[in-house]
Amino acid sequence: MNCYAFIGIQGSGKGTQAEQLSSTLHYQHINIGDLFRYHIKNNTQIGVKVQQIINRGELVPDDVVFELVEASIDKIAKGIVFDGFPRTIQQADFLLKHYSLLRVFYIELSETAAYNRIAARRVCPNCNENYNLKTQPPKIPETCDKCGSKLIIRQDDSPEAIHKRFKEFYNQTQPLKNFFETNNVLTIINGDLSVSQVFEQILALTTAKQ
Ligand SMILES: [Zn+2]
Repeated sequence: MNCYAFIGIQGSGKGTQAEQLSSTLHYQHINIGDLFRYHIKNNTQIGVKVQQIINRGELVPDDVVFELVEASIDKIAKGIVFDGFPRTIQQADFLLKHYSLLRVFYIELSETAAYNRIAARRVCPNCNENYNLKTQPPKIPETCDKCGSKLIIRQDDSPEAIHKRFKEFYNQTQPLKNFFETNNVLTIINGDLSVSQVFEQILALTTAKQ
């Protein structure tokens, strides 16, 4: 099965790019974070298992991740775009061995730029609508367009939480980057460009392979 994968710091826009690529190529889009949340919410067998692991404060082991990925694949899909997978060398190795990995896109964005994007995010505590003071501001400052509630900063987006996630990202990503580079499947994309400019570059590299 042909597939693409994305790597990027939070705020790099990799989720948006992965979604656009999957819909343009008519590939299945597999977002590991969403999958976990879905299974936990619906109390599936694997969801219960994952919840117990998370409750113990442990990382979900690779074999559970593989089980989840394999179970989620649409066997008749034309291809897959992975988002949030792989996260470890073992996962990357699994991907190379079991799938035809066409390319891994690393959307590179400086920590400062990523921080500024995340720090501008706001959410409505009432209806959960998302805003970004820079790119998608509410019509009335700090007020939800939909329900008029005062917008807040998500707890996850506090400066301490952001810096902690950045640190985790670099620890995790450097080895992955080297691994994919060695296997000649890595392409680095400048994440400072606009969403459409980034997508144009990605698409140019994928359609050449179709
Ligand atoms: Zn609202």
